[in-house]
Amino acid sequence: MRQPLVVGNWKMNGSLPSISMLIAGLKVQLSGLSEVDVVVCPPAIFIDRVAGLIDESSLVLGAQTASEFDSGAYTGEVALTMLNEFGCRYVILGHSERRALFAETDAQVAVKFKAAKEAGLIPILCVGETLEQREAGQAHAVIAAQLGAVVDLLGVESLCDSVVAYEPVWAIGTGKTATPDQAQEIHRAIRYQVAQQSENVAEQLLVVYGGSVNAGNSESLFSMADIDGALVGGASLKVDEFVAICRAAKC
Ligand code: PEP
Repeated sequence: MRQPLVVGNWKMNGSLPSISMLIAGLKVQLSGLSEVDVVVCPPAIFIDRVAGLIDESSLVLGAQTASEFDSGAYTGEVALTMLNEFGCRYVILGHSERRALFAETDAQVAVKFKAAKEAGLIPILCVGETLEQREAGQAHAVIAAQLGAVVDLLGVESLCDSVVAYEPVWAIGTGKTATPDQAQEIHRAIRYQVAQQSENVAEQLLVVYGGSVNAGNSESLFSMADIDGALVGGASLKVDEFVAICRAAKC
């Protein structure tokens, strides 16, 4: 039985007052929702503050990215061990914005995944196709390569205690959501790819959907057999929307 997971990716948003209000609202409205794991991923500068704010709640802390290196002359970067020290339990890796804006490659993301595991964090590996790739019939191949880079480097067992987030690039921040059937088709393919090497790992693997998830569409997405939760961008900044998504994940 896979426990549903909802992850809020705040991206580069928020201020000290706004994050306090957001966490205060989530703490009140999500108290008692033990059937869903809820993770918030603030900008790195706010991680320490949020760690204090979520104290004595079931909210869990995550990061939006990290360096693949342990330490050294990497100006501006944050190491996974540092994130662990500051209370992060999850880290988003290979988000499409990181891939598109910061030129992260499948191979680099796989190395980050390895470093995350070594640092004791749960990686949330983002995979997904662009609109051009979907229209060219390449969606399955692109996603298989993104996932394959991790499996080839680390073996399929590395996906234990890990999360895969299917995030079609054309659905992120656009208001266009994949239909439940479109998302389910890809989620099933991801699980099938893993099952080719280990049915046990495939059965346990959390595969969450991301791309304009909101209070209105989350329930139908979560009703699909292979959708185990959501990675939420814009709607994770609004207490009522995010709470509604978390509650919808319960069923
Ligand atoms: C994301 O950034 O991972 C995301 C899914 O964003 P949004 O929900 O805003 O589309």
